[in-house]
Amino acid sequence: MNAGMQALLIDNLKTLRLSAMIRHLESHLRQARQEKIDYDEFLLNLADIEIQVRQENGRKRRLREAKFPLLKPLSTFDFEAAGDLDVRLIKELSTSEYITRARNIIFLGKSGTGKTHLATALGMEACKHGIRTRFVTGCALVNELIEARDEKILGRIIKRYAGYGLLIIDELGYVPFSKEGAELIFQILTERHERKSVIITTNLGFGDWTQIFGDPNLTAALLDRITHKAHIINCSWESYRLKESLNKRRDP
Ligand code: ADP
Ligand code: MG
Repeated sequence: MNAGMQALLIDNLKTLRLSAMIRHLESHLRQARQEKIDYDEFLLNLADIEIQVRQENGRKRRLREAKFPLLKPLSTFDFEAAGDLDVRLIKELSTSEYITRARNIIFLGKSGTGKTHLATALGMEACKHGIRTRFVTGCALVNELIEARDEKILGRIIKRYAGYGLLIIDELGYVPFSKEGAELIFQILTERHERKSVIITTNLGFGDWTQIFGDPNLTAALLDRITHKAHIINCSWESYRLKESLNKRRDP
């Protein structure tokens, strides 16, 4: 390709916003010449790079937008330490297929059993699969909704939370909600019901949920919505943190 043609091609690629193809054009032209790669294969390789770069950028953007407190991937989760956790189920959930069917996941269990880690890991997988994800604690979500209502932007914020492909509500139940807070959370979950997935982590058994939401009728309606078509995962093993610190004490 002569210099004039190459400059025109770069201009065209710029107009089409194919920046990864521009960056790799020179090296691919060189490689094609040296290794006598056909033009069809050359074009395919270059287009592949553009797609890979876009997918990677999208994944990074979704990870940022998800606002995970810490990036905890599945690869750092020790299944041996998680008692009778159904490894096959977690592997299956890591494909994010449940999200296409708007199914929910509820992690129940004591503090330190890895609920937040697992919820984050599945959220990171969802980001990888192109799904807009948001991580928020129950407490922060309620505060944000109450503030939004005071500022008369509640409709907008509810729409935003209804829009994520996956919403992770962490630590539901650590702090009981006011009547108003409970109703607002209920509203979000109703919006998402059977349309979008939710992952919830909680230290409370379902029997104790009235403590968080106050009103027994509201609690029953809410439980009905989120447990319907949900994977309920009981994290009944020992706390990982506790085990770690006991091990450290034994083996300083
Ligand atoms: P929970 O949300 O149930 O209170 P976390 O997910 O916050 O527990 O786990 C507490 C800490 O222990 C975190 O740093 C987490 O990464 C780690 N952890 C918990 N379980 C495991 C596990 N099975 N393998 C690796 N790290 C774990
Ligand atoms: Mg947690």
